[in-house]
Amino acid sequence: MTNPSLLILPGDGIGPEVMAEVRKIIDWYGANRGLAFDVTEDLVGGCAYDKHGTPLHDDTMAKAQEVDAVLLGAVGGPKYDNLDFSVKPERGLLRLRKEMDLYANLRPAQCFDALADFSSLKKDVVAGLDIMIVRELTSGIYFGEPRGIIEEGNERVGINTQRYTESEIDRVARSAFELAMRRNKKLCSMEKANVMESGVLWREVVTEVSKDYPEVALSHMYADAGAMQLCRWPKQFDVIVTDNLFGDLLSDAAAMLTGSLGMLPSASLGAPMANGRPKALYEPVHGSAPDIAGQGKANPIACILSFAMALRYSFDHGDEATRLEQAVEKVLADGYRTADLLGEEGKQPVSTSEMGDAIVAAL
Ligand code: ATP
Ligand code: MG
Repeated sequence: MTNPSLLILPGDGIGPEVMAEVRKIIDWYGANRGLAFDVTEDLVGGCAYDKHGTPLHDDTMAKAQEVDAVLLGAVGGPKYDNLDFSVKPERGLLRLRKEMDLYANLRPAQCFDALADFSSLKKDVVAGLDIMIVRELTSGIYFGEPRGIIEEGNERVGINTQRYTESEIDRVARSAFELAMRRNKKLCSMEKANVMESGVLWREVVTEVSKDYPEVALSHMYADAGAMQLCRWPKQFDVIVTDNLFGDLLSDAAAMLTGSLGMLPSASLGAPMANGRPKALYEPVHGSAPDIAGQGKANPIACILSFAMALRYSFDHGDEATRLEQAVEKVLADGYRTADLLGEEGKQPVSTSEMGDAIVAAL
């Protein structure tokens, strides 16, 4: 049996710093749990541009298509702000998403008890929160044609088109139902079927797919009402599935229920591969944070939790993912805080590597 394969793309800014902590965790799993990965590391973003003149080399792209999962740090930084659009660091990430056809973006909003006070919401609203938003990532209003700014009479008109095919809705709905089956068998689909044709079709197709998942309790909600309910009482949800635009807004809002950008992992999944598992790219929600790069201040937890998602969704080690999440919970309960997790308390923060070491020790 060959080991499962993992392509690691640390990227720019704090990407390599947080990824170094993930490497410690990967090593720990190899040494202590008999879980060895074939790890390849490569360049993406600004560092790839510096070396190859392109933010994603074709060889790296090909490798990404072959491996069981890709783990990415972050891309971009002020050094690259004036580059031509076609070679900007972000284009590297966009190419990965597009060519791997990663249509389901999973964004958990999870509140670690030790950080419940950190949220801007009341503690009982967020304590114990653990929900997942599935956002359609490759279609909808960000891509639909026609689009553009046109002249009409004596003024200009800005146009975007919300467009969804049945198959696009079907496949992301299936990802969400599969996820619901692995969690608490509860799924809420959000659209605006009251005012949008794409929403009418969305509701129809999701309802049709639900026949293949009779154990999952499906509900529908208008996305505006959903936004309100997410703030009012988020624990009523478990998995939410929604389109690209609504998912963009709802997942950012839901994420902030729980505190810092430095805590938030994500997964982007595509079609099942020959081994039955989806194509997958895991990455923290945060960017390259140039303001704190190179200072040992970055919180590595978002990237570490992204690896936990990889353990669960790409490698079928949900138990080991839970072990890692519990180790994170423990170090937080023990009071370890990187700077982003400290309010005005005046406490001394731990460094990126101290946080990583503490998590390894907790494992
Ligand atoms: P992008 O365009 O790539 O999303 P951005 O500038 O919008 O980047 P981030 O890079 O995510 O946003 O960072 C926003 C701010 O949040 C950073 O300037 C940084 O201070 C803070 N931040 C982000 N990630 C972390 C982290 N892992 N640890 C600590 N602070 C972080
Ligand atoms: Mg940003």
